[in-house]
Amino acid sequence: MSLLEVNDLRVSFRTYGGEVQAVRGVSFQVKEGETIAIVGESGCGKSVTSQAIMGMIPTPHGKVKSGQILFKEKDITKLSKKKLQRIRGSEISMIFQDPMTSLNPTMKVGSQIKESILKHQKRSKHEAKKKVIELLKLVGIPDAEKRYSQYPHEFSGGMRQRVVIAIALACDPKLIIADEPTTALDVTIQAQILDLLKDIQQKRHSSIILITHDLGVVAEVADRVAVMYAGVVVESGTVVEIFENPKHPYTWGLLKSVPKLDSLEKERLIPIDGTPPDLFAPPEGCPFASRCPYAMEVCVSHMPDTQMFSNQHYARCWLNDQRAATVKELIAVGRERHV
Ligand code: SF4
Repeated sequence: MSLLEVNDLRVSFRTYGGEVQAVRGVSFQVKEGETIAIVGESGCGKSVTSQAIMGMIPTPHGKVKSGQILFKEKDITKLSKKKLQRIRGSEISMIFQDPMTSLNPTMKVGSQIKESILKHQKRSKHEAKKKVIELLKLVGIPDAEKRYSQYPHEFSGGMRQRVVIAIALACDPKLIIADEPTTALDVTIQAQILDLLKDIQQKRHSSIILITHDLGVVAEVADRVAVMYAGVVVESGTVVEIFENPKHPYTWGLLKSVPKLDSLEKERLIPIDGTPPDLFAPPEGCPFASRCPYAMEVCVSHMPDTQMFSNQHYARCWLNDQRAATVKELIAVGRERHV
């Protein structure tokens, strides 16, 4: 059974220029103990999808227009603010991108973690403090007892992100949404934070939705990947399927723009030319058509159907239609890659 099921989710924002259709019919599932990565460029709708799951779409401009978000089989888009607040932080929690803005600079870190425990769990202040120190140790902060009484500015960037992770774990959530959790960190610290997330997931059997623009990060931690473009999931599959046998030109583009660390040869990284479409008036056909080197006439006028390649791997691209010509690159990109 899935812990989370997102069905045909549509989210829009009203602006002076008109309605921005940020998420346009996104569906995916997250099983217990699974890590799914949602990948794509800025503005593809991945962060808006995670905000919708957290019930944090800014109102009155933003709105979940239609679709379902079933958490433990209950549609959380239908819950009252109060009920949603009870779930948020206790059963579903979020690790934000920038620890500097998600921590309160005027409050000691111990109190910030304790606040969440006291709000959602029936524990005395003494018990909560004990749990905070356990959490600081779990996320790898040395000298936890002393660190409990320090302020965020006394921590390095990597240590602050560990504190943010400790806050997210405070109430033993079943689902953790990590929105670009390593973007603000340097490469060595990024690797440590990814290892920590993997470790926590194995120890606690939590499910994780990892939001990222970086396919390198995905290979490290995810079980499954959903590739988003212009508010739509254009390809989804297991990490092996996406890296070894990608079926969508946008996924090929993303893979070509990731450096291969195991290669001794110098490799030229190829950016994806062009810009995503205007989501005030999304195209009728494939949203990637204006940037796709393989675009055909049908791509501009008709949105591709979903083609299944295994029970988990699917893509939306006319090239996979049996009437389309074979494109060698499809196979070549995948074979070059190793997870
Ligand atoms: Fe390119 Fe057409 Fe496939 Fe879209 S449907 S990715 S335009 S080939």
